[in-house]
Amino acid sequence: MGKRSRRSRRAAAGHPPLDVERARGGFAVRESAADGDWMVRAAGPASKTYICPGCGQEIPPGNPSIVVWQADGLLGEETGVAGRRHWHPACWRERVNRR
Ligand SMILES: [Zn+2]
Repeated sequence: MGKRSRRSRRAAAGHPPLDVERARGGFAVRESAADGDWMVRAAGPASKTYICPGCGQEIPPGNPSIVVWQADGLLGEETGVAGRRHWHPACWRERVNRR
């Protein structure tokens, strides 16, 4: 008689620590573009001045912005998160639709 190895299932109920992100308003949405996959999240009103990579102009505090980072960066997701950029929502949309 063969011996059965019992596999105990690990409780894989890990909740990613997303509550803070959630509280700041917005879920990240994955978008596929010509140059890869991007995570896009509505960041609400900017808390300080950012430079939009799309147009090179400022996003003044209080203006709506979105946060974009690379989902599948060659350097890994952590680097992608570190490389977050704030965009004007309109600029991001134009960028995606450019091609
Ligand atoms: Zn812009």
